[in-house]
Parts: sequence; C-alpha cells; structure tokens
Amino acid sequence: MSTNCIFCKIVNGIIPSKKIYEDEDVIAFNDINPSAKVHFLIVPKTHIDSLASCNMQHQDLLGKLLLLAPRLAGEQGLAGFKTLINTGVDGGQEVFHIHLHVLGGGNKLPKT
Ligand code: AMP
Ligand code: ZN
Repeated sequence: MSTNCIFCKIVNGIIPSKKIYEDEDVIAFNDINPSAKVHFLIVPKTHIDSLASCNMQHQDLLGKLLLLAPRLAGEQGLAGFKTLINTGVDGGQEVFHIHLHVLGGGNKLPKT
C-alpha cells in the first residue's frame, strides 16, 4: 500500500466506495464524479503508479483488468461501453494508481 494513495485507501477499506466487484487481485467501484450514466473504475489491489510504470511482469494483471471490463459492463446493464486509461499528467491522469475507466449508458459517448 502506498500511504498517500486514495485508491490504496479504497482497496484497504479506509475510504468507502460503491464497490461492484472484488477478487484477490482487483477491485471495481463506481466513479465518484461520473462522466456517464454508468462509470466505474477497475483497479488492481497492488499499487502501480500508471500504465507507464508497467512491464512484462504486469501482463496478466493488465489482461485481467481488460477482460473484466465487458463482464462487469454487462452486469451493469451496458450493451456497449468505452474504456479509458489516462496515463501521466499530460494524459489527464489525476490519481496515480493505475485504473481502467469503463463508461456507458444513456447518450452515445463522444468518439474520444
Ligand atoms: P484519472 O483522471 O484517470 O486519474 O481518473 C481519476 C478518477 O478517479 C476520476 O474520474 C475521479 O472522479 C475518480 N475518483 C477520485 N476519487 C475517488 C473516490 N474517492 N471514489 C471514486 N472515484 C474517485
Ligand atoms: Zn495506490
């Protein structure tokens, strides 16, 4: 756990979240400031700063994050969805604990 990391605090139950999924490796919870009708984040339990910090050791974990997206999106009632990983300050990343955004529902989302 990284002491000042908000998502590590969520993983450890120090900060509450609207959890929709959890297993030994990952947790998924609703985004506190949703950009779509359904907007949740899939987050590894282990602290990794960003996609730019990943290497081949993380390939199974990254695969798991991606493969969970359609499953959880389906469970949330989404027929289609958008995924997003913001990376680095210039990539719009605000929380430096890697996470996959999953968005959908309501109006068609913008292309990018
Ligand atoms: P990013 O810009 O990709 O780092 O996205 C960070 C996301 O985390 C934003 O969409 C925030 O709304 C969301 N967020 C920040 N704090 C919380 C929290 N306590 N619970 C749920 N989502 C959060
Ligand atoms: Zn963290």
